[in-house]
Amino acid sequence: MNNQRTGILFVVSAPSGAGKTTLCREMFDKFPDLRHSVSFTTRPKRAGEVDGIDYHFVDRSRFDVMVAAGEFIEWAEVHGNCYGTALTFLRQAAVAGADLLLEIDCQGACQIRDSIEDAVFIFVLPPDFAELERRLRGRETDSDEVIAQRLTNAQGEISQAHWYDYLVINDNLEEASQRFAAVIGAERCRTRHLSDFLNQQFATT
Ligand code: ADP
Ligand code: 5GP
Repeated sequence: MNNQRTGILFVVSAPSGAGKTTLCREMFDKFPDLRHSVSFTTRPKRAGEVDGIDYHFVDRSRFDVMVAAGEFIEWAEVHGNCYGTALTFLRQAAVAGADLLLEIDCQGACQIRDSIEDAVFIFVLPPDFAELERRLRGRETDSDEVIAQRLTNAQGEISQAHWYDYLVINDNLEEASQRFAAVIGAERCRTRHLSDFLNQQFATT
């Protein structure tokens, strides 16, 4: 939490396997005050995932009830499953003046772009398609069928990258992590986020 500036909403998208989760974990380590939103999903839990930590795992009927009740700031169907971000996370972060990082797909990012002013959009790219496939296979979390679907979807997702504010190419992990951290650091210095501090500490007549 900070008391000098307004909170920033960072929205991160990437084709599956590009390394978004890995990079975002590094950001949460580097910036302990950066908040994480736990999305709701109808996707089955993967080995090692924990309900309430990685996702809130819910069935389709519960998800539909939440949609109907307007509980999501954005939601989308991705790779055949539903995913959504609860509005309460955004409200709590805004009240606390905290920065929040959302890891969501391009459809969800578009909904945020259309509803929230000043969010910062970051797209994580793999160095190339061959490496993307290697990473999806190397992760050993998805079947061949799921991997094939994710690779097909990757083309459409990358076609959205042009409207994001920043592109982080995840080639070498350490260097990509440094560039990602530089984006967060630079955004935190934006005048518009620090105008209250400027006016209160250095008010001129
Ligand atoms: P995403 O969240 O975008 O689907 P992950 O973070 O799960 O992707 O990464 C996919 C796989 O690629 C994981 O096995 C991860 O360890 C690996 N990985 C991530 N970044 C790199 C990198 N820069 N170089 C090599 N492997 C990476
Ligand atoms: P995975 O199943 O690999 O965890 O995630 C699949 C995709 O769903 C990723 O692109 C991820 O960013 C996206 N995703 C995760 N949570 C949300 C969410 O709350 N909303 C949207 N729109 N996409 C999400």
